Amino acid sequence: MLATLPLLKNTDFPTIKRDILNILQVNLGYLCNQQCQHCHVNAGPKRTEIMNYNTCQQVVDFLRTNDSITTLDLTGGAPELNPSFRFLVTSAKAMGKHIIDRCNLTVLLIQTDLAEFLASNQVEIIASLPCYLEENVDKQRGSGVFQDSIAALQKLNKLGYGHDLPLNLVFNPQGPTLPAPQHSLEIDYKKFLQNNYDVTFNQLYTICNMPIQRFGSTLISKGNFASYMQLLRDSHQDANLATVMCRNLISVDWQGYVYDCDFNQMLGLSSNIHISQLNAANLPGNPVMVAEHCYGCTAGQGSSCGGALA
Ligand code: SF4
Ligand code: SF4
Repeated sequence: MLATLPLLKNTDFPTIKRDILNILQVNLGYLCNQQCQHCHVNAGPKRTEIMNYNTCQQVVDFLRTNDSITTLDLTGGAPELNPSFRFLVTSAKAMGKHIIDRCNLTVLLIQTDLAEFLASNQVEIIASLPCYLEENVDKQRGSGVFQDSIAALQKLNKLGYGHDLPLNLVFNPQGPTLPAPQHSLEIDYKKFLQNNYDVTFNQLYTICNMPIQRFGSTLISKGNFASYMQLLRDSHQDANLATVMCRNLISVDWQGYVYDCDFNQMLGLSSNIHISQLNAANLPGNPVMVAEHCYGCTAGQGSSCGGALA
């Protein structure tokens, strides 16, 4: 895979300073049952890096001692494949935290009791479905993934997801373009999935492809890296700077080290602070480590783990 960091480091991206920490995003490892083309984590079935129980315990301790955090956001790879996933969920639930599982949907067919577990702990599910057309999803995420994803969504709907329990889907473009407007795309998704598969969900989050890892490497090898970066830069909106996710979120890697966001984690942009050494009260006012990829968060309608910013 081709490295993107050398192409991103020199930047004129504006300075961002941290606010109060509300969201703890934990990457439980790079193991995944899928191997998608657009994956910014470079996750896959052969990755062996996963968070161990001791580090999960340190995450729980951090949650317990830092009151400003309201949300535990679990991601990966497929976070559910980590043997400590359910320990983290039940520990955070017992503290009254809101929990998000960034789920690839197909894992719900591998762990057949997982959907019930998530429902019983009222875990919000944010699930990637980069298109409502089978051909496009299978091209990006692997043969058969679309039909398995639909089966998983139908299973979730039966448990109350998309109704009383929050089920949000994630769209990202197939190639080096900005996402379509979030609201109008959500209407199209809802109509198509309801009419064709009897699937319902709450919100659609549109997310911009970041020029890093597998997607960034593909851009370089196809000669599209510079033009995609130019598109992101030309589409920058200052107004999005106020709500970029790194203001109130930190990202923790599988070894317990802290980053400004998941993208910085994947680029290795770190000040080498471990979760066991961090005090959230000291974060407000601290500068975020920015680079050229940050234009992916501020281009057009803006982009974050919760979709468009505008
Ligand atoms: S399902 Fe998600 S984590 Fe797994 S390979 Fe695809 S994009 Fe990456
Ligand atoms: S890429 Fe990360 S650090 Fe940069 S603006 Fe986005 S969230 Fe902030």
